[in-house]
Amino acid sequence: MSRRDELAANLAAVQARISNPDVTLIVVTKTYPVSDVQILKELGVSEFGENRNEEGLEKSSAVDATWHYQGEIQSRKLRDIAQWADVIHSLDTASHITKLDSVATSSIDIFLQLSLDGDPSRGGVIESELPVLADAVLASSHLNLKGLMCVPPVALEPRTAFIEIAAIHRRFIGAFPAAQSLSAGMSGDYEIAIDCGATHIRVGSSILGSRTAR
Ligand SMILES: *Cc1c(COP(=O)(O)O)cnc(C)c1O
Repeated sequence: MSRRDELAANLAAVQARISNPDVTLIVVTKTYPVSDVQILKELGVSEFGENRNEEGLEKSSAVDATWHYQGEIQSRKLRDIAQWADVIHSLDTASHITKLDSVATSSIDIFLQLSLDGDPSRGGVIESELPVLADAVLASSHLNLKGLMCVPPVALEPRTAFIEIAAIHRRFIGAFPAAQSLSAGMSGDYEIAIDCGATHIRVGSSILGSRTAR
């Protein structure tokens, strides 16, 4: 099977399991080459996600699409990320929001990263810390508040986690009505996430194959 046939089959299988046509599929191409991104673009994919600035810069300059950044954020990389990312899913620090706004030259959609357990290793903030971040986004000139992103703790049963995430998202929308989107669900759990209200799913290995690292 050619790489094109393989990607086409995997993509079709994922798309067939997306029960809600309004859900945005972001194909996470991290660690995979530009050639795969080009094939996926030809197959109709228009949203791609990356976890590293260098990779995002390279692939986004080769393939015209909507580019998402969902990796860990380092302050010194923000200026570069702002040059290619149309959407950022992993903001969780007020100073990063202020800096991103000051270095952005065009508008960027923002998902604030929620953490269910406050474990710093996966990033994100607990619910009570979201409003300060949301206010910082609303006060900015270049950043649009889109919603919340969350990667649940592995120890939690996925449906339990996504139900809790959706409840937090509903309360958040109560205070920040612009934040209608919910970025939740990866290869292993996107169907459950969609069931529980995810509007954006970030799927990598189910389409591109398993990665050795990251
Ligand atoms: C790698 C990654 C994904 C995609 O994960 P898969 O399990 O390969 O689908 C989604 N979101 C984040 C934050 C990631 O780091």
